[in-house]
Amino acid sequence: MNQDDLKSVFCRVDGLQEQVVESLSRLVEIPSIAGHAEACRTAASAVADLCKDAGFRVEVWEGPGAPALFAEIPAPDNSPTVLFYGHYDVQPVEPLDAWVTPPFEPTIRDGALFGRGAGDNKGQFLCHIAALKALQDTVGCPIGVKLLIEGEEEIGSPHLEDLVASNLDRLSCDVAITADGPHHADGHPLIIFGVRGLLFMDATISGAPRDLHSGSNGGVAPAPTHELVAALAAMWNKDGSVAVPHFYDNIVRPTFTEHRLAEQLPYPNWTGGETSADRTAPSLWNRLMFEPNLNIAGLNSGYNGAGVKTVIPRRAQAKIDVRLVANQDPNKVYVSFRRFLEQRGVEVSLLAAVPPSRTPIDTPLAAPVQRAIEASWNHTPLLQPRLGGTTPDFVFTRTLGVPSLLVPYAPADMHHHAPNERIPLESLYRGVRTTAAICLEFSRLAPQSARTAKR
Ligand SMILES: [Zn+2]
Repeated sequence: MNQDDLKSVFCRVDGLQEQVVESLSRLVEIPSIAGHAEACRTAASAVADLCKDAGFRVEVWEGPGAPALFAEIPAPDNSPTVLFYGHYDVQPVEPLDAWVTPPFEPTIRDGALFGRGAGDNKGQFLCHIAALKALQDTVGCPIGVKLLIEGEEEIGSPHLEDLVASNLDRLSCDVAITADGPHHADGHPLIIFGVRGLLFMDATISGAPRDLHSGSNGGVAPAPTHELVAALAAMWNKDGSVAVPHFYDNIVRPTFTEHRLAEQLPYPNWTGGETSADRTAPSLWNRLMFEPNLNIAGLNSGYNGAGVKTVIPRRAQAKIDVRLVANQDPNKVYVSFRRFLEQRGVEVSLLAAVPPSRTPIDTPLAAPVQRAIEASWNHTPLLQPRLGGTTPDFVFTRTLGVPSLLVPYAPADMHHHAPNERIPLESLYRGVRTTAAICLEFSRLAPQSARTAKR
């Protein structure tokens, strides 16, 4: 990357700092909780204005759900195109009394901007918009940049796959980049190369039309709670593996490099104590990234109040979530679970299915991002083969067919989804620098090498 260009762009980013904080405050003021149609519409149009101001051509895409925003700066001849993805919708704010300042009254204290959406995800996608403004004000945007900012991420992006599938041409790019979530708990920036998928099911058994007296009917009447607990327990073998047939079919094992990178990751800090970078936990990371997981997310049946109530509950219900790894098809896995549980008298319904994603760890498109992070943070990122959680990353890797990288800009203590969400101003400025540096780094990549790097 041309160091003079980088310097002048970073200098412009410094000059934009006040404006960035102001823009973020304006976005955070809009209570665009996912599902709240009017506030989401207001947020989409506020983001559109920011994009126009940064030199983007902007379109608001209306659909069955909240509007999505598409913004574009066309690629100069023979240069690659990066698609940045983000979301303007936010999580609900309860419990309200746990907030030091109200969630939709952006406040700056301790060097951070507090408010719902500050980090997840308004502050992070704003970095892309501000970076493009800094580039346009100085050396010009050297590559094609597209932005896709949707408004339904916090409720599982129900329309994103259709939206992407019906706009393949408009969204065509060489690589997709998502700045969302936090970086590693020990402060390391991350580049993440895929996510686990998610299958979410409801499992219910019904018995008598009402709760029954357990003395008058116990041992004689149907007992849905007993049957459900037995059916759920049967989903696991004694060694903890999943007993549902075909569950492990077709799973792609990690490559040597993925395995090695997983071994190098610092130990996650679940206890809230000190993290220790030298305590690596290969088997633990392997389980969180490369193996599927079955979890009972909720159980509901009968009387759970204070004191005694002797009933046979009329109904028992469980919520089941399954994390899926590369090559597992959520719909096929669902069919296996449904068959397995139906044989045990359980009624099963599907509530969510998100396929996993995987970008090859040796994609040549990661190196420019890595250099950009080093130039803007003075910190070498950890390369994390997979996220244990789930994002709709498959719409890029599978629907759009491009490599996709997750590059979080917010720190681990951003309190996303929790009261007192915040983003440190320094993270914000660093994020703007990072996106600008990513654009400059990609401009050195020949379009041919970018295109052949696609899967
Ligand atoms: Zn979120």
